[in-house]
Amino acid sequence: MNDSSMDQSALDALRRIVDTPQRVVITTHYNPDADALGSSLGWAGYLRKKGHTVTVITPSESPRFLCWMEGNEDVVEFGAKTAQRAAAEAAAAEVIFCLDFNALGRLNDLEPIIRNAKAPKVMIDHHQLPEDFATVVISEPSAAATAQLIYQLILELGDRALLDISIGECLYAGLMTDTGSFRHPSTNPEVHRMAAELIELGVNTSRIHRLIFDNNSLGRLQFLGYVLSQKLNVLPEFRTAYVALTSEELRRFNSQTGDTEGVVNYVLSIENVVMAVLLIEREQEIKLSFRSVGDVAVNEFARKHFSGGGHRNAAGGRSTDSLEETIRRLIASLPEIREALEKVS
Ligand code: 5GP
Ligand code: MN
Repeated sequence: MNDSSMDQSALDALRRIVDTPQRVVITTHYNPDADALGSSLGWAGYLRKKGHTVTVITPSESPRFLCWMEGNEDVVEFGAKTAQRAAAEAAAAEVIFCLDFNALGRLNDLEPIIRNAKAPKVMIDHHQLPEDFATVVISEPSAAATAQLIYQLILELGDRALLDISIGECLYAGLMTDTGSFRHPSTNPEVHRMAAELIELGVNTSRIHRLIFDNNSLGRLQFLGYVLSQKLNVLPEFRTAYVALTSEELRRFNSQTGDTEGVVNYVLSIENVVMAVLLIEREQEIKLSFRSVGDVAVNEFARKHFSGGGHRNAAGGRSTDSLEETIRRLIASLPEIREALEKVS
């Protein structure tokens, strides 16, 4: 995103909101990752400095390896105990920021509360095909992370001076993880410039890498060992590999929120594999995570077969079939994209 590509009327509307201290709710997608939580808490930190009263509500709890983010202790994690508070905050909000998601369905059980809230909604996101639910839409699929958009917006609003190390750490975490530690094709010069500016601001980037990636519980690492030694299925004719985890296995390994994060990237790292799928049996549905290389558009595949979406090379979806049936459907659908899978060099 640069000045010329940014929607000026959306930016003007955003400026008016930001310049008027008010009661703000910020929310993000279910199972928040570092970009979801980092952009939310970075934006919250900024808005508080602008005089706003801010509540961040997440649809579910965040992984433990993100708990260090400034402001995380005040996040309302939606659940049975917090539902009333979340509903009251959403009802009292004068504006609701929707960060790092493009469709209200990504809020799961929080959806009706946000949908029915009277406050205007502002979407700031980098997923393709945004749904039409927000009054102000800043949707930039070319951005590497929502955290990158937040950073650029703060600068665009003339507030570089309000950036501080805490805000910078949150935004760096989102940028780092959504670019796969600066290795996905989205990693353009702007991404590195932002990282460089955050280092100049005083962000200790190696500490953040360590907090996020070198912070495994012993149980998580042993769980990963089990998955890698017992659970990999490779389909060489489709250059695809998948891992399917049952709820029994998750219980057996006492799997915590975030423990399966990153598993799909190991699957994709197998030689000659250009599409990886992780299927997880959750309470009421099967959650699927897709990763791919090159022109294999997993967001389209997830949208068509598994009510999902996302980015071309990283997408997700869901299925209400059994795990076995979902695997069967997955494999049966692969011939449709065989050509794209074969073409990747
Ligand atoms: P993950 O596999 O890490 O859960 O998600 C990868 C990408 O796909 C993320 O950008 C996420 O926003 C998107 N995504 C994951 N699950 C869904 C889903 O159920 N629906 C849609 N539309 N996008 C999803
Ligand atoms: Mn993101």
